[in-house]
Amino acid sequence: MQLTLETERERGLRLIDEATSVEALDAAVTAVMGRKSAFSEVQRGLGGLPAEDRRRLGLVVNEARDALRAAEASRREGLQRAGEATLLAADRVDMSLPGRRPRAGSLHPLTLVEDLIVDVFLRLGFRVAEGPEIEDDWHNFQALNIPLDHPARTMKDSLYVAIPGHPELLLRTETSAVQVRTMRSQPPPVYVIAPGRVYRRETPDATHLPVFHQVEGLVVDEGITFADLKGTLEAMAKELFGEGRRVRLGPAYFPFVEPGAEIGVSCFRCDGVGCRVCGNGWIELLGAGMVHPHVLENCGYDAERYTGFAFGMGIERVALLRYSIPDIRLLVEGDSRFLAQFGGAA
Ligand SMILES: [Zn+2]
Repeated sequence: MQLTLETERERGLRLIDEATSVEALDAAVTAVMGRKSAFSEVQRGLGGLPAEDRRRLGLVVNEARDALRAAEASRREGLQRAGEATLLAADRVDMSLPGRRPRAGSLHPLTLVEDLIVDVFLRLGFRVAEGPEIEDDWHNFQALNIPLDHPARTMKDSLYVAIPGHPELLLRTETSAVQVRTMRSQPPPVYVIAPGRVYRRETPDATHLPVFHQVEGLVVDEGITFADLKGTLEAMAKELFGEGRRVRLGPAYFPFVEPGAEIGVSCFRCDGVGCRVCGNGWIELLGAGMVHPHVLENCGYDAERYTGFAFGMGIERVALLRYSIPDIRLLVEGDSRFLAQFGGAA
C-alpha cells in the first residue's frame, strides 16, 4: 500500500504539473484522488489495518494528499493567472499607439492681411462698410465721375452679367461703389473702410487674377485736407510693414479724385536703398486722392462745405509683399502645403 501511495503521489504531481488548462487540472485531480482512484482505495483500506500500521500509513496518506492539494492549488492559481493574462492581452488597448491628430486649419493669407488692415483702421475710428458684388453702371462708374469713354468701361476690363431686364449689371470692378452707397445712405461725417472682392476680365498670370480683393477707405468731413490723407496712410504703412516706413506721393489720375496720387512706401527690405523686391527703394502700394467734388455732389453732399479723401489698394499685393510670395496664383490654388505655412502668421 505504501508503494501504491508513492507511485500515485508521483503520478499525481506529474499530471498536475502537466495540466495546461483548468479542465485538464480537474481531470488530473479526479484521476489521482477521485472516489475511484487507487489513492482513495488505499484510504478506504486503512480501516482494516492493525492500529500501528493504520497510524503510520495514515500519516503517509495525509502527507501525500497535502502535497497533491498544494500542487493543485498552486497549479490552479497559475492557470487562472495565465487565463486572465490571455483575456487581458485580447482586450488590450495599446496606449502607446500614436493617435490620429486632425489637421488644424489656418486662416488664408488674404484673410490675415485683410484683418490686419481693417484692424488698423478700426483703431483709427473707421467702421467697415460692405456692398453688393453685382453692381449697376451708375454706382460702379457714373457716380464715380467715370466718363462714358473711360477705358475701365469697355468689355475688355469688365465682366457684365446677363440678366434679362437689367442690361447694365456687372461684377464690380472696384469696391468704390460701396463708397457711393455709404454716402447716399448717411450724412457726413464719413469714416469707412470697405474691404471686398472685385472682378476684372484678366487672364491669370504671376501678378493678375480675374477675381481679387481690394480695400478702400473714404473720409468725408469738414476741413479734411491732403495732410490727413498722407498721415492716415503713413500710419497704415507703419502697421503693415514696420515702424520707420515713409510714404511718398506722386501725381496720378483717377476720375473720382482731384488731385489724385500714387502712394509709394519706402521698401521694408532695403529701407529705401534699392533691392530686388523694390528696384528703386520704393514700393508703389496704392492709389488715393481728394474726393472729386462731382462725386460728393452725385451722392448729395455739399461739396462747398465738405471735403474728403479716398484710397484703394489690392489686398493680394500687400500679401505678396508681406509674405514674400512669388506668384499671385499660389493664393488661389488651394495647395495645403502652401496654406499651412500661414498657420502662425499674422
Ligand atoms: Zn527694397
